[in-house]
Amino acid sequence: MIVQCHQDLSREEYERVYKKLEEFGCQVTEVVTQLGHYFVALAKRDIDIRRVGHLDGVADVHRVSDSYKLVSRKWKVDPTSVDLGDGVVIQSGGLSLMAGPCSIEGEEQVRAVAAHLKAHGVSIMRGGVYKPRTSPYSFRGVGLDGLKMWSACAKEFGLKIISEVLAVEQIEGMAEYVDIFQVGARNAQNFSLLHELGQVDKPVLIKRGMSSTIEELLQSAEYVFSSGNEKLMLCERGIRTFERAYRNTLDLNAVPVLKEKSHLPVIVDPSHGIGVRRFVEPMALAGIIAGCDGLLVEISPSPEAALSDGDQTLDFRESANLFEKAKVVHRLREGESLQGVDEARARIGG
Ligand code: PEP
Ligand code: MN
Repeated sequence: MIVQCHQDLSREEYERVYKKLEEFGCQVTEVVTQLGHYFVALAKRDIDIRRVGHLDGVADVHRVSDSYKLVSRKWKVDPTSVDLGDGVVIQSGGLSLMAGPCSIEGEEQVRAVAAHLKAHGVSIMRGGVYKPRTSPYSFRGVGLDGLKMWSACAKEFGLKIISEVLAVEQIEGMAEYVDIFQVGARNAQNFSLLHELGQVDKPVLIKRGMSSTIEELLQSAEYVFSSGNEKLMLCERGIRTFERAYRNTLDLNAVPVLKEKSHLPVIVDPSHGIGVRRFVEPMALAGIIAGCDGLLVEISPSPEAALSDGDQTLDFRESANLFEKAKVVHRLREGESLQGVDEARARIGG
């Protein structure tokens, strides 16, 4: 059960609610986030929630049968929006485009991508400065100095930044320079990292682990929320299956299922999802039709020369095409008149 408290809960009210829940034999966790004050109470037996609901300081009580609680739609019916400031909001029913290189490599590359995004109305730039690489001999990123350079350029172009954090020790240094912390597939169940990200007031995008179930992904998000941060997004980026014809299997089933199970925005990463450049566009568009709220796509001025993931990275012509088509498909999904879509298609010659 989730006990949602009033923001101005007094010490006495807090103690009375806590005591009552303990009397009912509940295991109680207090959760204080940027936006709310909650108790997550796990009960061993059925409790009449009205006996908690009437207590002073309590705004609402919800019974949540899922193993994850705070990220469940069973208590929060309204979808969560993540506001990055300056009018950039990731929200249900919207289409937030996030694009950029797999790895940040240098200022020339960063400026070229930033100018390209700006020209196409994309307001969030992706890029890794700490890269999780299977081989220790592969390029492992430019680190914090590279992030500082990128952040200065992004500000110049009015762009927001999403970048992967690999370890707890990196959080503090990165926090000033990123707008969204990305938790990569390999860290989706790094519970110390998830817990620490709950202590910062910065949005977090959690990728699904390559062998994670949907429930495990939601439990990972629950770690961050219950540690104090409810500015969260989920990302489907493909899972590892027996199929070897492509890098991963983009599980688009996850999109409507996650949207139904959770109130958090759902982002699709078709680049890692299929891992083959020529198939990224159709899978991105399919992700939109499946109901995602945004796309995370790898693009670069010269994918052939990229230090990581070049094989799945779009060049500027391909990405410009994708951005335009994505907007058209999104409008279609949202039920806009076909006339508007026809006009947009005529503009891009589709
Ligand atoms: C990335 O976004 O470049 C990345 C490493 O993603 P994932 O964690 O999904 O492999
Ligand atoms: Mn990558």
